Amino acid sequence: MTKQFEHPLPNSEGYFGEYGGSFIPPELQAVMDDINQAYQDIRQDPSFVAELTRLYQHYVGRPSPIFHAQHLSEKYGCDIYLKREDLNHTGAHKINHCLGEVLLAKKMGKTKVIAETGAGQHGVALATAAALLGLECDIHMGEVDIAKEHPNVVRMRILGANVIAATHGRKTLKEAVDSAFEAYLADPHTQLYAIGSVVGPHPFPMMVRDFQSIIGIEAREQFQAMTGQLPDNLVACVGGGSNAMGLFSAFLEDDSVAMHGCEPAGRGLEQVGEHAATLSKGVPGTMHGFHSYMLKDEQGEPQEVYSVASGLDYPSVGPQHAYLKDLGRVKYGVVSDEEAIAAFFELSRLEGIIPAIESAHAVAHAINLAKQGTRGSILINLSGRGDKDIDFVVENYGKQYGIASLL
Ligand SMILES: *Cc1c(COP(=O)(O)O)cnc(C)c1O
Repeated sequence: MTKQFEHPLPNSEGYFGEYGGSFIPPELQAVMDDINQAYQDIRQDPSFVAELTRLYQHYVGRPSPIFHAQHLSEKYGCDIYLKREDLNHTGAHKINHCLGEVLLAKKMGKTKVIAETGAGQHGVALATAAALLGLECDIHMGEVDIAKEHPNVVRMRILGANVIAATHGRKTLKEAVDSAFEAYLADPHTQLYAIGSVVGPHPFPMMVRDFQSIIGIEAREQFQAMTGQLPDNLVACVGGGSNAMGLFSAFLEDDSVAMHGCEPAGRGLEQVGEHAATLSKGVPGTMHGFHSYMLKDEQGEPQEVYSVASGLDYPSVGPQHAYLKDLGRVKYGVVSDEEAIAAFFELSRLEGIIPAIESAHAVAHAINLAKQGTRGSILINLSGRGDKDIDFVVENYGKQYGIASLL
């Protein structure tokens, strides 16, 4: 097995300590068991590993570089480095696990991949992988989100995916999940439900982590080659937690490497519905088929969540993060909307790199750590590029940052 598929956790039932597992109806459990078995086979199959490696190199453009951000470093008194996942084909880290999932589906003889999407980022990455590998792709999306995220809807349709509108309830992500789940249950044998982060029932938190762990494997080698050392600190934003697990997984045994995840504090931690800081404000619980920290209301239902970065507003978090938090191996903090937007402009103007607002949270967290006295090197996972966010940012924050309307 290559390093990408060699990790001590989870155990065979999918547990990271007390977190993870699989809490789903019995008929679905049989399907998950099949997926797990197929995954156990292919992760040891040299032809699968070779195919994935070929796609990473020649299609995604891996390895993504590490860049020493000198101006940011000088300003904040730390050596700040960026792992440039924003330079991947499709502009973010999600393509790493979508290719793995679609390849798995193909090896299992499935003809279609299916998923829900909120802002459309997971939908576009999955539609891309499905187009490349010749599988059908159904993306369920709330009607409200379809109107809001028009460019991503157009991308998915150009790529040949079917975008299916969820028209009930609030017509957003939760309804899209219901709709996709119902369609999956109707035929779980010819389709694979491709989960978009290190969440959901076993084996998805493990599988998505393994596919993303290429980030950390590369970063460890690249950083050592550049500096002769390991980084002193790692920083990544945490929505479901896939880009963070991808980076962290290669350094878990290195005691000298401090790890920092950051969640969105949105408009403030004090009010329910104004943030998505699951690890800071949530409690252990079970939802969406797995046990982890979650933000729940009095009835035990998922709380409303919010972040200026739509990729980070999830009311739970990957079970390995819950485990690493309890162990104290990773420190989890929060970054507000305002701090993330300030970092968005700072990285753009100091380094000429426009980050995704999600990734700007990680940049803001690194800046906060430096301001609070952290020294040495900080390696930030720059999970995606900001092209998708520019209109929103200028419309809502342009004036504040000196961009007057040209119209
Ligand atoms: C989706 C997304 C995230 C959040 O997802 P994780 O699973 O927490 O990594 C972060 N950054 C970008 C650019 C994204 O598209």
